[in-house]
Amino acid sequence: MADLLVEVAVNSAPGAIDKTLTYRVPPEMAAGVRVGSLVLVTVGKQMATGLVVDLQGGTGHSSLKDIRAVLEADFLPPHLVELGRYMAERYFCPLAVALSAMLPPATGRRLERRWRWVPTSGEETAASLNLAGYLPSPARAVAAYLAEVAVAGESQLRPFARGRELAGALKILATHGLIREEWNWRQAPGVRRPYWAVPRPGAAAALAGMERRAPRQARILRALLEGGPRPAADLAAGNGYTALRRLEEMGLIELTLGPPAGAEGMPPSRFEGGSEEYGNHGGAGGGVAPLQLNRDQEEALRAIEGALSQGGTFLLYGVTGSGKTEVYLRATRAALARGRRALFLVPEHSLIPQVVARLRQAVGDGVAVIHGNLSPGERAAIWERARRGEIRVIAGSRSALFAPLPDLGLIIVDEEHAGSYKQDAAPRYDAREVAIKRGHLEGAVVVLGSATPSTETFYLARRGAINLLQLPRRVENLSLPAVEIVDLREEFRAGHQGYLSRRLRQEVAAALAAGRQAILFLNRRGYAPHVLCRRCGYVPLCRHCDVALTYHQDGTLRCHYCGRGEPARANCPACGGSLVRLGAGTQRVEAEARALWPGARIIRADGDTTARKGRWEEIYRTFAGGHADILVGTQTIARGMDFPGVTLVGVVNADLSLYQPDFRARERTFQLLTQVAGRAGRKSAGKVIIQTYNPADPAITLAAAQDYRRFYEQEIAGRRAGGYPPFVKLVRVGFSGRDEAGVIEAAHDLAGSIKGAGAQIEVLGPAPGFPVRVQDNYRWQLVLKVPAWSRNKARLAGCLANYRPRHDIRMIVDVGPVNPW
Ligand SMILES: [Zn+2]
Ligand SMILES: [Zn+2]
Repeated sequence: MADLLVEVAVNSAPGAIDKTLTYRVPPEMAAGVRVGSLVLVTVGKQMATGLVVDLQGGTGHSSLKDIRAVLEADFLPPHLVELGRYMAERYFCPLAVALSAMLPPATGRRLERRWRWVPTSGEETAASLNLAGYLPSPARAVAAYLAEVAVAGESQLRPFARGRELAGALKILATHGLIREEWNWRQAPGVRRPYWAVPRPGAAAALAGMERRAPRQARILRALLEGGPRPAADLAAGNGYTALRRLEEMGLIELTLGPPAGAEGMPPSRFEGGSEEYGNHGGAGGGVAPLQLNRDQEEALRAIEGALSQGGTFLLYGVTGSGKTEVYLRATRAALARGRRALFLVPEHSLIPQVVARLRQAVGDGVAVIHGNLSPGERAAIWERARRGEIRVIAGSRSALFAPLPDLGLIIVDEEHAGSYKQDAAPRYDAREVAIKRGHLEGAVVVLGSATPSTETFYLARRGAINLLQLPRRVENLSLPAVEIVDLREEFRAGHQGYLSRRLRQEVAAALAAGRQAILFLNRRGYAPHVLCRRCGYVPLCRHCDVALTYHQDGTLRCHYCGRGEPARANCPACGGSLVRLGAGTQRVEAEARALWPGARIIRADGDTTARKGRWEEIYRTFAGGHADILVGTQTIARGMDFPGVTLVGVVNADLSLYQPDFRARERTFQLLTQVAGRAGRKSAGKVIIQTYNPADPAITLAAAQDYRRFYEQEIAGRRAGGYPPFVKLVRVGFSGRDEAGVIEAAHDLAGSIKGAGAQIEVLGPAPGFPVRVQDNYRWQLVLKVPAWSRNKARLAGCLANYRPRHDIRMIVDVGPVNPW
């Protein structure tokens, strides 16, 4: 008779993850095994969990090991296993690594071995115990105990025997057919279902008197009243559990285990023209929410709805402020109305609170969040609920793409041009590509949206590979903000000091006088990026990375690569001359603004201020709620944020991203400036001031004109001429290690073998990474330009698979890299 054989991607055995292994399924387990089953196997002498990725029949495989147990028959949906295969092939990574992106954290699960008494009737048991009477003593005692309790774990058997003695006893009983090994895979008792907070009657009235007296409690109440019930952990982040408990004591909120049932439409929905009270101070859902879609929005929505039954991929290209979110929300409602589920991806977790608030207003209950900052326990709990179909919409960053939602009908990838959709660690996938694939596999509609689509995506749309939907106008006929370019060279010539030009100062002052808000944008944190001895040229470098240290206001010099810091000194260690601090980071701009406008309320949002969980949400609410006048920040504030009170945006230095050693530098500059400019004048006429030393550069002038089309035409022509994506596929192979000569040699070796393989692959390098040394590891890279990807891919895969670098050198393959290395 043919055996059932399974291919298993092993999850947890060290060293075994680079391949799948074949096992035999014992006949009694065969009925419960399918693609996606979680099984227990042995690898060498180690026990490991694994995922069944394929089933096959076969005979005469007596050398194969049996799987030990089926832990969960329907663990991962087969679609996701298929998606993992696609990723493994596309990004040259092992299947088990690709699948690891889809599995919940093992936290909270416990694997427990138990022993079950086999005889079922009293007669059988009596006979068996009689037999056991002839066995050595520990086995006899274990048998008597198991006959009584039916099933027990090893800890319960320890009173009778321990260690080797117990193992021996169990073995004897098993070979006599008296007991059977069993594996239990269960939620450890330590992990509770998450608590949810629900507002109670009287909460709205209590809020009014609370704002000043108890700001944390007020924030929590406001969030609940605006966005509806939420997990308590979300609220506690940044506000603290004490505030939550206090509110519960006062009877203003209720804490329930899990999301409350029937909470549908609980908070007054602004869509239905409900309470105005929460509509105006921006809060989480601030922004433009017209009841009536304009014609372009209407058309886009119709196209998406029309595809919900069969699936399809769209690019929703709409200028900033054109109401893309409104289209997403209604499309989501349409998908849910058809009994399907939806995924809503945003490029970074700082955007999630406002998206979730709007989703909850639009669709009511059943919205959950997945992002990189969740604790493993929270992730595992949401994963489980998603799989059971208890969640209808998941909003989150890149990793939410793999949520095991059944009946997926819609995937939204907002701000699709964002580099953060590419994962920098294995598996190095591109969430846009994988979203499109997942849509194909599950018959779901995929909507990529942006005001500044990536050149690659727009190219696909122009060629008809993706359906193009356009929103060319701002909603409510708001005009695009007026953009003015300030030439910093002239400021310098005129002897003007400071990082804010005379024009920008004037406009900020005018905005403040009018009671409006301003944003000052600079994509560099810290105080001064260049510290230098004017006498001898000494520059303090990180001892572990080849980069200059950045001066921070707290008096430290910090490495922005490895995060290490040291106290700054006033004098040069080489010559004793005095050290000067040049250039500006967000801290310096903030300091300058404070000196210029001492009466203004100024807050700062960058990697230093938003690192703590929940802190960004706090900054966002403060500013959106009108409790600050000027927001100084890095790109965190550039994306998709709705700040209705902002009429002025100042870009302190537009040139920062322009000279990065990367073919995407111009595109990134254009996107960033367009997005930042789009923050101005969401509710009324706005103004943008861009400061630059390159006032004639098209990336800057076209961003000022908000002319995406012309920028795209220039960019795509440049890519075609230079041989860059989308006309070739780029693959970066990075090598790193402590021995630089060895690293370079490894790069040369692989370059040689690829050149010798006879494919038309262009090999650039070896070239040093930038910086060449990070955390004491030297980094060198090859960049491969691969034309006709489908034709050359297999050859390249062969070269890469056959090449093994020295054990102390790490090799990293990155297909379609987004960030320079
Ligand atoms: Zn010096
Ligand atoms: Zn460093």
